[in-house]
Amino acid sequence: MTALRKPEVIGVITAGGDAPGMNAAIRAVVRAALSHGLEVIGIRRGYRGVYEKDFFVMNSRHVSGIINLGGTILKSVRFPEFQRPEVRWQAARNLQEAKIDALVVIGGDGSCRGALALSETSGFPVVTIPASIDNDIAGTDITVGFDTAVNTAVEAIDRIRDTATSHDRTFVIEVMGRHCGNLALAVGLACGAEIVLIPERPSNEEAIFQEVESADRKGKESVLIILAEGAGRAAELTEVLSRRFPDKEVRYAVLGYVQRGGRPCSASRNLATRLGVKAVEGLLAGKTCHLVAWVKGAVTFVPLSEVVQGKPKVSLEYLDLVKLLSI
Ligand code: ADP
Repeated sequence: MTALRKPEVIGVITAGGDAPGMNAAIRAVVRAALSHGLEVIGIRRGYRGVYEKDFFVMNSRHVSGIINLGGTILKSVRFPEFQRPEVRWQAARNLQEAKIDALVVIGGDGSCRGALALSETSGFPVVTIPASIDNDIAGTDITVGFDTAVNTAVEAIDRIRDTATSHDRTFVIEVMGRHCGNLALAVGLACGAEIVLIPERPSNEEAIFQEVESADRKGKESVLIILAEGAGRAAELTEVLSRRFPDKEVRYAVLGYVQRGGRPCSASRNLATRLGVKAVEGLLAGKTCHLVAWVKGAVTFVPLSEVVQGKPKVSLEYLDLVKLLSI
């Protein structure tokens, strides 16, 4: 299909779950492209928008005043139909008809799979920018939105800790992370949690009981347990702990969607900005099927085939730090 020539028109979409900093990435892509003399087509509602031709020409003013906004001005919807080759063929035809030469996809692991599938089906040039509050994408050390979600959760948990300490309570806090414990690990370390439970290291009830007893013996006034949603449910763990320790006041909180939204922090904005600019430069240099990644403090390109086959880097060493410091 589209030949690998220098693009003159690029499309940009956000797909999958939203993450704070997506707008900063859109802004960087649009303005970097315009600065390089390209035309930019915004595509609303992710891959569904590509399939349904939800296209509009973007100028610099479309991205004014959005660097500080959470969510995504391009909207994002799940579109499982994109797994069907004929749907991707139609999507590629739509892009070509609109004279779009290459696509920047801002999104998570699923969005990277979609981009690779689109390119494998049709040959359409794509690069992706990793955006996810879970920091669960292989090939990059960090994703756009992760730092913001950590800060949001930490702020909420600091408040809960005040109550926990005042009332000698044990608190179970459930954070997002269905398949990946990076958010729970970073949040647990930053909050000085006593226990962090993640899907990558399943724990049994007995081990958790022992840790709570050990905190008791050390004279701790409160015990804070950070639970990634993929490692169990806060309500259930709270019930189990209350039964085992009837004299303790065990409470729980599920942070839920508050972790997703909100103003992106400076780290998320600057990461998004650097990756967005590089995505455009990559396309101009003829790159396709790559993730624009942050590795060891620098922006780099990682083949999407490696991203979709790889496993995200999980900061398991944080578990040891949590243990070491919860004396
Ligand atoms: P995220 O990008 O946040 O991980 P999803 O897993 O929902 O979110 O993926 C975003 C979108 O990417 C999906 O709604 C779908 O349109 C597309 N997608 C995901 N996986 C595939 C796949 N294997 N093949 C084609 N498209 C996919």
